[in-house]
Amino acid sequence: MHTNLLDFDMNGLVAYCAGLGEKPFRAKQLLRWIHHNGLSDFDAMSDLARSFREKLKEHAALYTPTILSDKTSRDGTRKWLLDVGAGNAIETVFIPETTRGTLCVSSQAGCAVNCHFCSTGKQGFARNLTTGEIVGQLWMAEWALRMVRAVPDERVISNVVMMGMGEPMLNFDNVVRAMRLMLDDHAYGLSRRRVTLSTSGVVPMMDRLALELPVALAVSLHAPEDALRDKLVPLNKKYPLAELMAACQRYLKYAPRDFITFEYCMLSGVNDSEAHARSLVSLVRDVPCKLNLIPFNPFPGSGLACSSREHIQRFSRILLDAHIVTTVRKTRGDDIDAACGQLAGEVQDRTRLAQRGKVVTIPVRAA
Ligand code: SAH
Ligand code: SF4
Repeated sequence: MHTNLLDFDMNGLVAYCAGLGEKPFRAKQLLRWIHHNGLSDFDAMSDLARSFREKLKEHAALYTPTILSDKTSRDGTRKWLLDVGAGNAIETVFIPETTRGTLCVSSQAGCAVNCHFCSTGKQGFARNLTTGEIVGQLWMAEWALRMVRAVPDERVISNVVMMGMGEPMLNFDNVVRAMRLMLDDHAYGLSRRRVTLSTSGVVPMMDRLALELPVALAVSLHAPEDALRDKLVPLNKKYPLAELMAACQRYLKYAPRDFITFEYCMLSGVNDSEAHARSLVSLVRDVPCKLNLIPFNPFPGSGLACSSREHIQRFSRILLDAHIVTTVRKTRGDDIDAACGQLAGEVQDRTRLAQRGKVVTIPVRAA
């Protein structure tokens, strides 16, 4: 097997090129050809010396996960199901909006955190994705999307959210290396504000991220008190809410935005009462934040249901009245829903993301 060049950030590529007897500037050229221009054919990399190209052909290649399916919704949402071997599949979802194009990227096949309402968690942990498999989702999606554009030179993906399958903080090194490429001007050149990592609350890793690569942060809350959160997000037993809130405050000193996004999945009769909303207000009152209410996407055997529209409205009203910016995610891509469910079945149903990925955030009206 050749070395996968998608596994390297700039420093890694400099070291790799040095191993082939090449100068550091070669790594920069190579990085641009791969990520800026989307090339995998070394012969087409015209400013690389022929001898270097021959070495690369002998030792290196670009590998991305095989596409199992590729579906586009009427509203433009596009979903790829990708094979990562041993019967495991992950999903990558592109969500177009008027002012931006967001790619939802997976970090692990499965997830060990085992949140009560998450089908990925229910299906257990398979393995961490490699850096190449993580950034490869962006590489593949950006060029697939550009190919069907009238102006193929224009960037399509403006934002990345690490909100696909898996807990990114538990695959820290590979995720950070992949995000470094997302931010590198010689690769994708996205600003730290446009790359968001979502975590279930791995406190020590939040502190590490603050020091190593402070991108925008989303924290999956789902409950305002420890007793309930212990049940919904078992990791809460290890890192309870007081510690999590303190970690959010620390992160804010480094964050590219002056707020943390809190995600809260609306589960009927579980966490959606007015008392829960009031308790949530007290919990987050001192943390500059935005709250994102996510209607629960049901899956077979979950034993849970999504809160009613009325409940969600009432819940958000309490937050808005307390001057907390609150949004509700709106479902998109409905016409490819059924197909997702079917595909999920074919690949051991590891793809709850298929349902979650097709969402956009809309503000809740304050009226
Ligand atoms: N592991 C990370 C990132 C991936 S999950 C995390 O938990 O934050 C991304 C978001 O989707 C999380 O907020 C998660 O709680 C939410 N989610 C998981 N299952 C869901 C479901 N069935 N319906 C709605 N949202 C869900
Ligand atoms: Fe893992 Fe996130 Fe699902 Fe929890 S919600 S099981 S952390 S992917």
